[in-house]
Amino acid sequence: MTEEIRHAAATDIGLARDTNEDSFLTQPPLFAVADGMGGHMAGDVASRLALEALAGKGVLGADDLADAIREANQHVHNEATARPELRGMGTTITALVAGPKDVEIAHVGDSRAYLLRGGSLKRLTTDHTVVERMVREGRIDPEEADHHPQRSYLERALGVEPDVDVDSYHISIEPGDRILLCTDGLTTMLTEDSIREILEGESAADDASKRLVGAAVDAGGSDNVTVVVIDYPGSRVEVSPAPMEQKAPKQARGKRRLLVRAGVIAAVALIALLSLRALALSRWYVGADQGRVVIFRGIPGVISKVEERTEIPVTSLPEVNQDRLGEGISASGRSDANEIVGNLREIREDYGSEPPYPSESSP
Ligand code: MN
Repeated sequence: MTEEIRHAAATDIGLARDTNEDSFLTQPPLFAVADGMGGHMAGDVASRLALEALAGKGVLGADDLADAIREANQHVHNEATARPELRGMGTTITALVAGPKDVEIAHVGDSRAYLLRGGSLKRLTTDHTVVERMVREGRIDPEEADHHPQRSYLERALGVEPDVDVDSYHISIEPGDRILLCTDGLTTMLTEDSIREILEGESAADDASKRLVGAAVDAGGSDNVTVVVIDYPGSRVEVSPAPMEQKAPKQARGKRRLLVRAGVIAAVALIALLSLRALALSRWYVGADQGRVVIFRGIPGVISKVEERTEIPVTSLPEVNQDRLGEGISASGRSDANEIVGNLREIREDYGSEPPYPSESSP
């Protein structure tokens, strides 16, 4: 291939957030997106730190990429441990090394990589979310998953624990392949069909990335949105479907295979459970308990810990808010949860002088 690989990136804060916690990296042949989480500015710090750590590695091979991401995990985790204001921060990461004939992808979280080939769009990564697991287990439909209130709860994120499992993928490239890396701000706002249409309709990577981000913002922009588009030279038409293999995590092929004994499996399962619990408890939401509005840590219906009970009776609020409290209103951190409670308090005050609920002094 004599022509160059072309690329472009775009990001937007969206219409609903105060900060852009997404980050991207375009340092050919290395590309990545990251979507940070945590209160205040911590999410922003997490995604930036992760990509800085990755950029500093000068990554090339497939195994190097996964190793570099594990190192980035340690780096983010160390910072989160050392600085109280950053405690609990984490980030998704979807990173790619674009070789001349193939690409290596390494991935943690719910950002995604897609391949546009021969007019069809194929998702290359699996989301590490509670909801995606529920789909895999057949407990909910994929269509339900798209609108599920807990769709952004991660089962795995970078920086939350001292170690992280990294998914690795290898794809052989054909001429004209176009690859998209994106954060969930794109995929929660646009259907895969609209994403495919835009990628098909814009021949320049720059135009495609700007239009994708613009469309996500126009569709509501409820989250930060970030995309990276990578184009291989050649015409983008009728070729065979993408051959793709997912590699087993590197360690699984080595020493770990020898450790298949019941005791070890039980210990691993326990550790996984505890990590999952720690990760779940790093999330925040506002819900209802004993008739009052309550701030929780955890995931509604999965694991919850009461953090603060308010004086606000649930029945003092309009039905729409009651419904949302029933499902749990997710918050990006403690201060966000406080803000949601503040809003509910205002809604309650505005909700008329004759409350349709028994006053607090009545039996
Ligand atoms: Mn996001």
